[in-house]
Amino acid sequence: MIRIIYASSATIEFTESKLMQLLGKARQNNGELDVSGLLLYAKGNFFQILEGDEQKVDALFNKIEQDDRHVSVVVLDRAEIKKRAFPNWSMGFRNLESFDRSQIRGYNDFLDRKLTAEEFGDIGDEVISLINQFRTI
Ligand code: FAD
Repeated sequence: MIRIIYASSATIEFTESKLMQLLGKARQNNGELDVSGLLLYAKGNFFQILEGDEQKVDALFNKIEQDDRHVSVVVLDRAEIKKRAFPNWSMGFRNLESFDRSQIRGYNDFLDRKLTAEEFGDIGDEVISLINQFRTI
């Protein structure tokens, strides 16, 4: 198994209903592929972890990367894993716009900014640490 963690920037305004539409499809597809993970959204930026069978995760990521609802897709980590961090979530989701950020350890203002692809690359460790705070095991 592998995991891929990436960051990207939305190209459209993601209302709650657009996010729910995206998630509905993602959960349905991921369930069929046995891919699990988490999607975070804040200030027009996405952070996502996808985990599961290597070929399935790579193929899914290639599809997601081409989705024109986001750009500047930057891979922050791609690694082999023995165990999933989000085994029970076909795609967990947190909209950090409406999330009590005081609950986020080491809160970083990158959540408030619209970052460029290059800047995402520079803060990979912080994004990974943020995602890990939501893990279910
Ligand atoms: P279809 O059955 O043809 O579904 C396509 C559907 O996707 C459309 O009906 C529509 O609801 C939606 N859609 C696609 N493109 C657009 C668009 N430009 N504008 C509006 N709606 C559109 N997919 C997953 O399967 N798993 C994921 O974890 C996942 N995560 C994503 C994370 C992000 C940040 C983004 C932007 C997309 C994500 N997607 C995910 C969606 C993915 O990019 C594909 O749109 C989706 O997998 C297509 O599903 P399908 O092959 O079943 O195609």
